[in-house]
Amino acid sequence: MSDMNFEGFGELFPEINELNAPFWDGLAQSEVRLQKCGKCGVHQYPAESFCYECGAQEMSWVPVVGEGTVYSFTVVHQQYHKAFKAFMPYTVAIVQMDEGPRMLSAMLGLNKPMAIGDRVQPCIRKVSEDRSFLTYVPKDK
Ligand SMILES: [Zn+2]
Repeated sequence: MSDMNFEGFGELFPEINELNAPFWDGLAQSEVRLQKCGKCGVHQYPAESFCYECGAQEMSWVPVVGEGTVYSFTVVHQQYHKAFKAFMPYTVAIVQMDEGPRMLSAMLGLNKPMAIGDRVQPCIRKVSEDRSFLTYVPKDK
């Protein structure tokens, strides 16, 4: 998979703002980060100024392992954006992270279909010097 090129994904990035920058900056440094509540301890994603669980405004960012299980998935056969051309068809999964949040993730270049409950691990794909995005791959056995 070393010939995979992800530069085309650059224009699919969301607007990076004060609230979500730690997530994207973490990926650029090969690190998955989630917000963690200083009061009740839950991890959350996407970022917000308060805790979804208890409402406290004591959110900080912490690095996490980010592994999880496939909660649900679909296989996409329609090319919605040219960046995906080389990866058709591809899987989009909802990953139940071990830390708690669910992450929507493209799974690109799979050798075999996924199944609900399969273990997966983060795979950070580099788009440019300062931008990378989070995908998932089957967990190494
Ligand atoms: Zn909380």
